[in-house]
Amino acid sequence: MVSYKELGLVNTKEMFAKAIKGGYAIPAFNFNNMEQLQAIVKAAVETKSPVILQVSKGARNYANQTLLRYMAEGAVEYAKELGCEKPQIVLHLDHGDSFELCKSCVDMGFSSVMIDGSHLPYEENVALTKKVVEYAHQYDVTVEGELGVLAGVEDEVSAEHHTYTNPEEVIDFATRTGCDSLAISIGTSHGAYKFKPEQCHVDPATGRLVPPPLAFDVLDAVMAKLPGFPIVLHGSSSVPQEYVDMINQYGGKLEAAIGIPEEELRKAAKSAVCKINIDSDSRLAMTAAVRKVFAEKPAEFDPRKYLGPARDEMEKLYKHKIINVLGSNDKL
Ligand SMILES: [Zn+2]
Repeated sequence: MVSYKELGLVNTKEMFAKAIKGGYAIPAFNFNNMEQLQAIVKAAVETKSPVILQVSKGARNYANQTLLRYMAEGAVEYAKELGCEKPQIVLHLDHGDSFELCKSCVDMGFSSVMIDGSHLPYEENVALTKKVVEYAHQYDVTVEGELGVLAGVEDEVSAEHHTYTNPEEVIDFATRTGCDSLAISIGTSHGAYKFKPEQCHVDPATGRLVPPPLAFDVLDAVMAKLPGFPIVLHGSSSVPQEYVDMINQYGGKLEAAIGIPEEELRKAAKSAVCKINIDSDSRLAMTAAVRKVFAEKPAEFDPRKYLGPARDEMEKLYKHKIINVLGSNDKL
């Protein structure tokens, strides 16, 4: 049993309370490899932002859970080396799908876990989430639950259609499970293909597709039921068009990739939404940068020469999100 406190990590409790009060949101960035982690830590330190490092089941399968845990421990030391005296870094399990998985993460040094029972019948979701909360809270580990189903595909999580969170259920769910935060479904979605072109309209000024708006009425209703309770948005990448264009320009083939407009996320960040998950955007930034090097310098074969620019591009993206979308800069 390793406590996250020994690793210099923190849970989400205090940072969420501050974020709700301050009208901003904490970035939750997924990581699978060293370059991504370096970019996240550097962006967080240089903007003085708290940050949540997320590990999905797919990341655990890809990179190995033990290695990821030690990387998170390294992230804290790296942040200090970069000049951050008191880094506020959370190591969070994204989309935990069983009690056993959540327990194993708590036992190995995670400071926060998500138990996603959103696909289960309501009572089973309550029971599973409660069980995880009871275990995690013994070790001061915070727990994110989920009500409502997000559409889209991300690692092993996928659903054809979304079901908005029912505001009538949130008080009962939060009270009976004791969860520390709640992921809700208001129209965000996983992956880089969040909307079908036929769901969108064309912006006459830019010629770009504009997706349907998020269901802020559902968010408002949830906030009215649970005043001041930490709300989480998954699937909140914006799918920057410049990366999609860059990928396609350099030999990629992304068709009609559409994300959530940053304007809407800025609005959400000012509310009780205090954690915003972003994964696809960094995948796009990395892919765009790597493709550019391959296209422009076909003789290059030193991985540092294409992963380095990819890391720089991701760092730029993370800083942009922190400063211009979530507003979590200068909070350390
Ligand atoms: Zn998610």
